[in-house]
Amino acid sequence: MKLYRGPKYWLIFSKDENFLVTMVEQIKYCQFCGTHLVRKYDRSKLRPFCEACNIFIYVDPKVAVVAIVPSNQAILLIRRAIEPHLGKWSLPSGYVDRGESIENALVREVFEETTICTSPCHYLGVFSGQGPVVVHVYVATHKSGTAKAAEEVSEIKWCELDELPDLPFPYDQEIIPAYKTYLHSL
Ligand SMILES: [Zn+2]
Repeated sequence: MKLYRGPKYWLIFSKDENFLVTMVEQIKYCQFCGTHLVRKYDRSKLRPFCEACNIFIYVDPKVAVVAIVPSNQAILLIRRAIEPHLGKWSLPSGYVDRGESIENALVREVFEETTICTSPCHYLGVFSGQGPVVVHVYVATHKSGTAKAAEEVSEIKWCELDELPDLPFPYDQEIIPAYKTYLHSL
């Protein structure tokens, strides 16, 4: 098991990448009163429960954005300089801040990682049900700037669709086919 301290959140990664279960298991104390939590059934689900506050502790999903930025037959990839998946090639992506729009998060994350300005042009869809993260994916037009490695990124490249490396995140195997389907519909 690996503990990762991100800039905005804590995530705990187990070997089987069953993130949500792992995160729930790691919640030990009530965030309101500090009491040691017990486990109790809430209908059919076992959840953390605070006997002092008499409340269940719910663990909400996190919301992330993923950008497909095309250039001719290629799309933009970044090489991750942070965990998880340090050193792996990945689509530009990141977490949505509370109160921030999905579209703003997308443009912000692509800029932070690659310094280019983009504009979301097609909503590819929402991907959920595997672990704690709900992912919104946009195709985004490259508006200005030259892509270069920036925050939390060691390299960037424009990669042909038929030469993509193994992408590491749970929904990547659904996102790329969805993008190809979208291209065929144009
Ligand atoms: Zn409490």
